[in-house]
Amino acid sequence: MNYQTILDEIYDEIQPELMRGKVADYIPALAEVEKGQFAMTVTLKDGQVFSVGDTKKEFSIQSISKVFTFTLALDIYSKELYKRVGVEPSGNPFNSLVQLEYENGIPRNPFINAGAITITDTLISHYKDEYKTLEVIMNFIREISGNPQLSFDPIVARSEMEHGDRNLALARLMKSFGNFDNDVIATVMTYFKHCAITMNTEELSRSMLFLAFGGTDPITKKKFITPAQAKRVNAVMLTCGHYDASGEFAFHVGLPAKSGVGGGIAATVPGKMSIAVWSPGLNKYGNSHAGTLALEKFTTKTGLSIF
Ligand code: GLU
Repeated sequence: MNYQTILDEIYDEIQPELMRGKVADYIPALAEVEKGQFAMTVTLKDGQVFSVGDTKKEFSIQSISKVFTFTLALDIYSKELYKRVGVEPSGNPFNSLVQLEYENGIPRNPFINAGAITITDTLISHYKDEYKTLEVIMNFIREISGNPQLSFDPIVARSEMEHGDRNLALARLMKSFGNFDNDVIATVMTYFKHCAITMNTEELSRSMLFLAFGGTDPITKKKFITPAQAKRVNAVMLTCGHYDASGEFAFHVGLPAKSGVGGGIAATVPGKMSIAVWSPGLNKYGNSHAGTLALEKFTTKTGLSIF
């Protein structure tokens, strides 16, 4: 299949959609990102890369980072992790407090904010302090993305903390139920820092490759998690990766994928490739409008969906 031709076609077809949607503005530092930008990259098992658009442009990966922290926590805690966080779609907005209250402080899944903050909490418990935890997260993402220089944007992280009352409330609520071990502020700050990691689509696509290949990077041959664990991470991406539009995303695109409010979406085609797309205009669910459409076009044109 000629992936470059397919990406070029998608790039042309997607142009009328790029100004649609709304850039995330509840994090003031993200509100400054210009709409109308688009990039898409496909990475194959043998390292071949196909790209279109602004593929060198760095963006805030936001919630996509939750895939990486979930992977790290699963590797450490295995099934024990599910005592702290579930694996069911929430059907609620990603920052809902109500569901957490009536479900006794156990977040539905690792990709809603409460779940991801819990995952960060488990990592801090394991690594003993938040600085070491952030270093482990950063080094892991540097390794899988192939960019040892990767870092987070401190302005975005600080901006999130300044407007982070709801996330702090989620953490405090979990603490009141006994589902939280570490200092709330330090843990939520670590969470904001990993959300503020910046990557371009080439790095992001590369970083998802191990998940498309059963937990082992097919290029470096390094094993990060077991095939059974990679199956779980992909399953949670499919069922919970797009906030309360996860069902719709599976229906239209049909791939395990995770989106972030920075406009990025990272997807796997298990056994075949990883894909990253970025376009900052978001639909009403907080998923990239053009990014979702581009992935739908990709699976339609190639027939590469898991269904
Ligand atoms: N750091 C963001 C928050 O906690 C993540 C949002 C997202 O991408 O879903 O609100």
